[in-house]
Amino acid sequence: MVEAIRDFELEIDKDEVCRFLGYRKSRGPNGSISVIIDAEIGEAYNLIQPSCFYQLKDIKRVRQSQVILENNLTIDSAMLSRIFRHCHRVAIFLATIGPRLEHRVTELMEEGQIVRAMVLDASGSEAAERVTCHVQERISELAAADGDAISLRYSPGYCDWDISQQRVLFEVMDSTQTGVTLSNECLMTPLKSVSGIIGLGESDTYQLGLSACLSCTTQDCPNRR
Ligand code: SF4
Repeated sequence: MVEAIRDFELEIDKDEVCRFLGYRKSRGPNGSISVIIDAEIGEAYNLIQPSCFYQLKDIKRVRQSQVILENNLTIDSAMLSRIFRHCHRVAIFLATIGPRLEHRVTELMEEGQIVRAMVLDASGSEAAERVTCHVQERISELAAADGDAISLRYSPGYCDWDISQQRVLFEVMDSTQTGVTLSNECLMTPLKSVSGIIGLGESDTYQLGLSACLSCTTQDCPNRR
């Protein structure tokens, strides 16, 4: 069963909004831009409708480049196989801030208010990240209640996990319940939505929380973490 979490509060971090806008810690926005950022963060709070969803699935088998879940849901990724061989369950999750913020961004663009649109869009990206952290924390609490720990979270499109595998995640999620749909190109609507998977395994398993990148020999990978 898909579990839903709604009606929770989140805090949009101005520093993170600045980071989405391309500012560095050493060189933040000037005074007038900072005022716009504060105003658009305020507007974002009025527009976001945070909600997140998750479902736990048992892992049946882990092969070299496949993770087979209950109901024969199949995750195709050597990277995830390396992580999930230390897990016995996964949580498939979806987090969204709803459609209203991106509709307002479109309006601002059409009105030629490009800076405000960009700042509001960045505020939405940061809000979506906070919603994703919220569902991750809930999954971590669930895992801890059973003496388990969680892996890092992963989304389709990361490393060797093809974006087309969004379809596997959406086999689990009910679009009517979540309000998030998937296009033929595997893009989500609303755009400010994040889907992904987290492994759950015994908390004393040292490798569980490690990044798969630590044992990867790919040179100069931009996604290394
Ligand atoms: S370094 Fe790059 S290729 Fe290697 S596991 Fe990390 S994301 Fe994947």
